[in-house]
Amino acid sequence: MINVTKTFLPPQEEYNEHLKKIWESHWVTNQGPLCEELELLLKNYLGVKNLLLVSNGTIALQIAIKALDLKGEIITTPFSYAATVNSVIWENCTPVFCDIEDKTYCIDASKIENLITEKTSAILPVHVYGFPCDVNRIGKIAAANNLKVIYDGAHAFGVKINHNSVFNYGDISTISFHATKLFHTIEGGAVITDDDKLAEKLFLYRAFGHMDDDYYSIGINARTSEFHAAMGLCNLPRISGFIDERKKINLLYKKYLKDLPLAYPEIPDDIFYNYSYFPVFFRSENEMLSVKEKLKKNEIYARRYFFPSLNKLPFIKGESCPVSEFNASRVLCLPLFNGMDEQLITVITDIITAGLNK
Ligand SMILES: *Cc1c(COP(=O)(O)O)cnc(C)c1O
Repeated sequence: MINVTKTFLPPQEEYNEHLKKIWESHWVTNQGPLCEELELLLKNYLGVKNLLLVSNGTIALQIAIKALDLKGEIITTPFSYAATVNSVIWENCTPVFCDIEDKTYCIDASKIENLITEKTSAILPVHVYGFPCDVNRIGKIAAANNLKVIYDGAHAFGVKINHNSVFNYGDISTISFHATKLFHTIEGGAVITDDDKLAEKLFLYRAFGHMDDDYYSIGINARTSEFHAAMGLCNLPRISGFIDERKKINLLYKKYLKDLPLAYPEIPDDIFYNYSYFPVFFRSENEMLSVKEKLKKNEIYARRYFFPSLNKLPFIKGESCPVSEFNASRVLCLPLFNGMDEQLITVITDIITAGLNK
């Protein structure tokens, strides 16, 4: 069985080296030495000022919304995973969906201003598939209208715009280190900010608002453990190798699919891309569904990332977003993982070719 992704696991002995330290110290959670080490390495690797590890990418969004004290309406993208909009609603804010553009599939910055009302407190875009949003334009709109910006960077690990980390834009950026993401700690995530005051607030929010016996604010349990950090310490040195390998897989897919009526996102020239997903846009939903079925008959499970367009979720009454709805209906993410060989790629592309040429 082939899934859309296959979680990388390091050699067990390597993980055990870290476990030995945990067994010696008996320090298993509460921001122990492995969490501290991973935070420092991630800050250096990504080139960001403040980074706090948290237990997942959803709580990262929630504490970001809380720390910025957001109220009322948050303008966000409908083309994302449900976690983005769920965290807005969970924090008692109202999502207002802004349609996407069809080159990068990120929020269409030219449509944001029309949606701003006196209730708007923030913009929450997603660097979808790791493609950066129009961060400069979004930054200007936010400044002109006194709005906060949180970027959901769940897919954007390692992505740079003109050599600068994509996480250096907005008030806060969040990441997910879930097992399905490019860099993983099994479960995990992080919040990133330039602002030291905000970082202090996030630090307290992460662990019940206190340090030792001094209580400062409300807080929640958003901590991660030493076991999760150990997985991150094993995986981090491999990331640039992972990205190189995924780039090759991406190019092979495009080579074998090049004569078919399929569309892909354009990778902008001025970015360093991480090749976190391989989304393919079919001409129609029916065509996509028939190919998905054929893959499934061969035990290959491609996934509908991202479907449905979040404005169409049953518990949301969202405005219509035609670009997002159309693209969500016809997109399929093909299997992409490290260790995938060319033979598997041709098995998949042959099934797609046969499916579209019938
Ligand atoms: C995976 C993901 C999240 C949530 O991350 P978890 O670590 O699973 O909570 C949030 N936003 C997007 C866009 C994601 O893909």
